[in-house]
Amino acid sequence: MKTDRRSFLKSAGLLTAAATVINPVDIFASAQKGKKAAGSKKMELTWIPYDAKMKHTFTIANSSRTHTPLVLTKITYDGYEGYGEASMPPYLGESQASVLEFLKRVNLGQFSSPFMIEDITKYVDSITSYNCAAKAAVDIALHDLVGKMLGQPWWKIWGWDPTTCPNTSFTVGLDTEDVVREKTKEAAPYKVIKVKLGRTEEQDKMMINTIRSVTDTVICVDANQGWKDKYYALDMIHWLNERNVNMIEQPMSKYALDQTAWLTERSPLPIIADEACQRLTDVKKLHGAYHGINIKLMKCTGLREAREMVSLAQSLDMKLMVGCMSETSCAISAGAQIAPKTEWADLDGNVLIANDCFGGGMKVVDGKVTLSDAPGLGLEITKDTPKF
Ligand code: MG
Repeated sequence: MKTDRRSFLKSAGLLTAAATVINPVDIFASAQKGKKAAGSKKMELTWIPYDAKMKHTFTIANSSRTHTPLVLTKITYDGYEGYGEASMPPYLGESQASVLEFLKRVNLGQFSSPFMIEDITKYVDSITSYNCAAKAAVDIALHDLVGKMLGQPWWKIWGWDPTTCPNTSFTVGLDTEDVVREKTKEAAPYKVIKVKLGRTEEQDKMMINTIRSVTDTVICVDANQGWKDKYYALDMIHWLNERNVNMIEQPMSKYALDQTAWLTERSPLPIIADEACQRLTDVKKLHGAYHGINIKLMKCTGLREAREMVSLAQSLDMKLMVGCMSETSCAISAGAQIAPKTEWADLDGNVLIANDCFGGGMKVVDGKVTLSDAPGLGLEITKDTPKF
């Protein structure tokens, strides 16, 4: 027997329930707030290169830098504007030139609606087999745009509880004792300090001992593939475990899968893949070799794939972390949308740069990732936001 959907809903009492939860008038009113004026119903992608200036010279196991090249993107549609961003730290192999070259090839005008996120991101991904940051710049702007059209932020559209976001860490890079002490004091409002290790045993232990001379705050360690021997790595992890460290990111080379699996089996602390985990297709390969993965939008092409990585990792009982590059509040607020599902967040990229050009979005309140209730990524345009 064929049941009419409306009478089924009515008899099941669902129609009234649904009406109290979602009021289409409210959604429409909320979406209208993000709309400037009626505009072209053709998506248009624009961009502008932007240099993020680092507050401190940033040093990790293999490199040092004073600024990070970015490209900001914008997609306009019917009076709405969505913002995105690509960040290109040197080790990713992308540059402003390669991102601009990629963006010129993107033709969003062929899609009739921004709501076709699945088709649009698949098409963007098919343009080249690399350019992950450039792809993320399109994906982030698209999510900001569609979130604004729906009048809701993405964590809400996905049905997640914002109160389950973890504390975010504040990164202290490899440096001299004096600078490490100074940076540790700067990290005081944060409840987790992330420490970059992976040089010599003497330097690594100096870093931890110096931080411990200032504070007992929980430490997350990122070795950035710096430890070469699994026995040495295990000894270091035991030493760190006695010093209030709660996780180890990428202890050994991303290619050392067997040695890392050996380490993970014996480690008293969770071992998280960063360099080894770029995209969705990596997650299954890492299952069993690492306890979890660090998702970064610049590695995985954006929020669409990040959302899928969350589901896959959860189904494999793997732990989750969300990380970032040196980024403005735009990409940071995009990454923060998946924070409710993660155990660790390393979303300090916007506070480590001196020229963040967006307001609003994700804020760190009492050390915790605190999501904005505003539509899309919740960003505010400021006097520092470049016009493009
Ligand atoms: Mg890392």
